[in-house]
Amino acid sequence: VKEAETRSFEADVSRLLHMMVHSVYSDRDVFLRELISNAADACEKLRYEAIARPELLGDDPKPVITISADPDQKRLTVEDNGIGMSREELVEALGTIARSGTRAFMERIEAAKSGEGAELIGQFGVGFYSAFMVADRVDVITRKAGADEAWRWSSDGKGSYEIAPVPVADTPKRGTRVVLHLMEDATSYTQSYQLERLIKEQSGHVPVPVALVEKPGADRREIADGTALWVKPKSDIKPEDYTDFYRGVSGLYDEPAATIHFKAEGRHEYNTLAFVPGSRPFDLFDQDRKGRMKLYVRRVFITDDADLVPRYLRFVRGLVDSADLPLNLSREMIQDSPLLAAVRKGVTNRILGELTKLAESDGEGFTKIWENFGVVLKEGLYEDWERREQLLKLARFRSTTSGESWRSLADYVAAMKDGQKAIYFMTGDDKARLEASPQLEGFKARSVEVLLLTDPVDSFWVAMAPEFDGKPFKSVTQGGADLSDIALPDATAKTDAETSPEIATFIAFMKSTLGEEVSDVKASDRLTESAVCLVAPEGGPDRQIERLLSAAGR
Ligand code: ADP
Ligand code: MG
Repeated sequence: VKEAETRSFEADVSRLLHMMVHSVYSDRDVFLRELISNAADACEKLRYEAIARPELLGDDPKPVITISADPDQKRLTVEDNGIGMSREELVEALGTIARSGTRAFMERIEAAKSGEGAELIGQFGVGFYSAFMVADRVDVITRKAGADEAWRWSSDGKGSYEIAPVPVADTPKRGTRVVLHLMEDATSYTQSYQLERLIKEQSGHVPVPVALVEKPGADRREIADGTALWVKPKSDIKPEDYTDFYRGVSGLYDEPAATIHFKAEGRHEYNTLAFVPGSRPFDLFDQDRKGRMKLYVRRVFITDDADLVPRYLRFVRGLVDSADLPLNLSREMIQDSPLLAAVRKGVTNRILGELTKLAESDGEGFTKIWENFGVVLKEGLYEDWERREQLLKLARFRSTTSGESWRSLADYVAAMKDGQKAIYFMTGDDKARLEASPQLEGFKARSVEVLLLTDPVDSFWVAMAPEFDGKPFKSVTQGGADLSDIALPDATAKTDAETSPEIATFIAFMKSTLGEEVSDVKASDRLTESAVCLVAPEGGPDRQIERLLSAAGR
């Protein structure tokens, strides 16, 4: 099709646009960041395509993003000389919402207090549409690198858009120009000091230079130089630089909880700049979400799909820039490259190493990280045997004695009672309910600490029967939780259950009454007030696992 055409937005886009304009109002500044970030992505995609097809660059090899203001016309333009879009790509990218997260996004926005909305935009990757927060009409003129046709997309954001061919004589050789016709109350976005401030603050570290043209006819002025932050020496980087960069790479608007920046040298050379977010991204459990750790090769963006860290570190955002990998990495090479395997290992070790250091030097800071991401890190306890020891050291728990604070296993072991041989835990859905369980009576009476494990993932790693510091983990609901070796504070309170004739008679009676319903009836030290409780056989599945399995219909 080469004709002009009017098309309707997908229903979801219309809903999203409506919401953008009506409820996500508080921090409109972010629209510029979103457009600059798309422009930078387009330049990086071209840089990558041009490895195989250098002719795409023509006589204009240097990527650049230009922001032009026209105060009289109340217009703002964001232009790049990147990859551009074909007609199909234009329709697909700016008329639909392909991503599954969008519905979730809209639900969150609708539920959000005003003000929270803007923070969600970047995370959900619906960045382009944020232009309609400040513009009542948006034109996108684009020409795909190497193509001999160009297209104009235009919309007022109210349900439909037009798409029409434009004579290539009127367009740049390649790339995309986004023209915002600013709303009456958004004309301050043509003021040069305002634009300069926003570019520096929000986009100072995009890997493509950004220039400003203050008004028609004015000279271009470079605002950001496009130097990759991660190759700069650490001593030249200010904390605010890291924060800006973090916001760009994560789509989050808070401060990073940890910044990990290092250069690996020796057999493989690579730079890593990674962040632990200061808050929990909404899609921590969404399998489809792209863009966690990006892979660069000698500053050329290659992919955000190279699984550079294990799944249980999926909350980490950032990049690895390798000096040794070939630029023309194929998908298969990304899967199988031994070099990349070494990079994965190095990056993972370093991240865990930094977290371990932080746990030692800044307990409070680490606790915050644990509260946000502990559930995910714990997946590593059964997925990554090699690093289980280290992950167990990092793990923090609530227990019968912890109150609102967190306990490490080292804390637990240090507080073990004389005669106590195991690390006791109880799994369940809810801490308060666990704490009220009769299973804990004998432990409480002896002041033996019990870990209260309430995350679904807990049942899985404890089922692998790990040890810590030579002490096995033991469920209080399993028969082996024998407390007879641990003294009660009041020694006389202990009856000798094994030998008492009354108890033996009672047990015989219980066994004959219950018959096949139970596998055994035993006297136990675990209760002090309740008369009986159900326990799982030693070595058998934990009670919580049994419940999960029966809920799953097994
Ligand atoms: P995201 O950047 O997360 O993919 P956006 O809403 O910001 O989401 O952009 C949607 C899509 O539109 C992009 O994925 C890209 O395909 C296309 N796009 C937007 N701006 C440009 C641009 N300047 N050059 C080329 N493609 C663009
Ligand atoms: Mg974007």
